[in-house]
Amino acid sequence: MTRAPSHASRGDAAMPAPLLTEPPAELDDLSVFPASTARLPHGDLSVGGVALAGLAGRFGTPVYVLDEDEVRSRCRTYRAAFPDARVLYAAKAFLSRAMARWIDEEGLGLDVCSVGELELAHAAGFPPERMVLHGNAKTPHDIETALRLGVGRIVVDSPSEIARIAALTGPGGRQKVMVRVVPGVSAGGHEKIRTGTDGQKFGLSLTDGSAQHAIARVLGQPQLELTGLHCHIGSQITDAKPYAVAVRRLVGLMARIKDNHGVTFPELDLGGGHGVAHRPGDPALDLTALARRLGAELATSCAAAGLPVPRTVIEPGRAIVAPAGVALYRVLAVKHTGPNLFVAVDGGMSDNPRPALYGARYAPRLIGRSTTAGPVAATVVGRHCEAGDVLANDVLLPGDIRSGDLLAVPVAGAYQVSMASSYNLVGRPPVVAVHDGTARLLIRRETQEDLRRRDVGA
Ligand SMILES: *Cc1c(COP(=O)(O)O)cnc(C)c1O
Repeated sequence: MTRAPSHASRGDAAMPAPLLTEPPAELDDLSVFPASTARLPHGDLSVGGVALAGLAGRFGTPVYVLDEDEVRSRCRTYRAAFPDARVLYAAKAFLSRAMARWIDEEGLGLDVCSVGELELAHAAGFPPERMVLHGNAKTPHDIETALRLGVGRIVVDSPSEIARIAALTGPGGRQKVMVRVVPGVSAGGHEKIRTGTDGQKFGLSLTDGSAQHAIARVLGQPQLELTGLHCHIGSQITDAKPYAVAVRRLVGLMARIKDNHGVTFPELDLGGGHGVAHRPGDPALDLTALARRLGAELATSCAAAGLPVPRTVIEPGRAIVAPAGVALYRVLAVKHTGPNLFVAVDGGMSDNPRPALYGARYAPRLIGRSTTAGPVAATVVGRHCEAGDVLANDVLLPGDIRSGDLLAVPVAGAYQVSMASSYNLVGRPPVVAVHDGTARLLIRRETQEDLRRRDVGA
């Protein structure tokens, strides 16, 4: 779909075109970029004091830029909004050794769900006792590694792993665990990221009694110490209400467990899924409102049930790292096909599968040259051999967009690099941290040599 340029630069008899020396406002909204983002001459932007076009030149494209201060300030915002809670960063959103160190230094814990995430965080010096192991299908190696390194909690997600964790803990050992409960709450930005309802693969159902059954079995294992219930109801949630409903149901379950088994739990883990804006004007979850609502709901429900208020645990992933990342691409081709204007870049679904997976929307922006051209509607597509390789559908770009231009895509810090593939053997992009006017490479680009080496040639 092509929209007529709203800033008529072609002249109009009745209304003379405004004399533009700056990009039109709709092409110049920085509200979802990192807080440190600043405009530079010639249409460039800087993040963390480093010019983005310069980074594209130095490291090549596509490249992912991560603003260290934005990550740290988001950690601090969480700790301030939830002073009594334990805040765990969900490593799957993005993990590198530097990221693990920032999270550690900011006093957060870490959610991991594989040997790979565990070992990388451990190699970065992250304290294992502040890690929590998740996963609906933990391998024996995952569990053994978690126990060997001494992770703080293991979240039980299915009945079959209860005896396995207990056995691997050994007769003299004792491992803290939680039980992941499906509270029957539907929330989240897309069907594929709703994890709080029955009929999806995670957790143990409250409605069919499997949660209660698993809890009884955990309580019967002397090697396991059940510290509390866990739930994670979905992702990209922008409203506090589903969390309050989940709290009410989990407290209801805690009351029944107290009646049946005489135990109360010191913790309640409410998972993550806190939504952030990816485009200017998108809704985002208000943390202060969430903290207030959770606190009130927990106090009321626990008082009514005669339970002590457990310490809450929350697990934000994208809300910590997504807004700290900016992806930079080079435009390789611009093409009109019927009514569509396709702008094809040198990355795509291999570095960002989110639009294809669950319809994520982005707002790319031209950087690196100035233009006063009015906006046109365009579809930014990747270079891969799939028609579904669309990075951003129906977005506004300057009407003179052309090959060689640079595009910056904000809110690119979560579930992009961590989900990247080597589709079409293009190699996964590098990650560069920016801070105080300096850039440093965290993860180098995957080379042809890397790709070749895995193919042992048999
Ligand atoms: C994915 C996940 C999170 C983080 O989700 P976000 O949407 O990134 O906040 C937290 N906890 C668990 C168990 C998860 O699976």
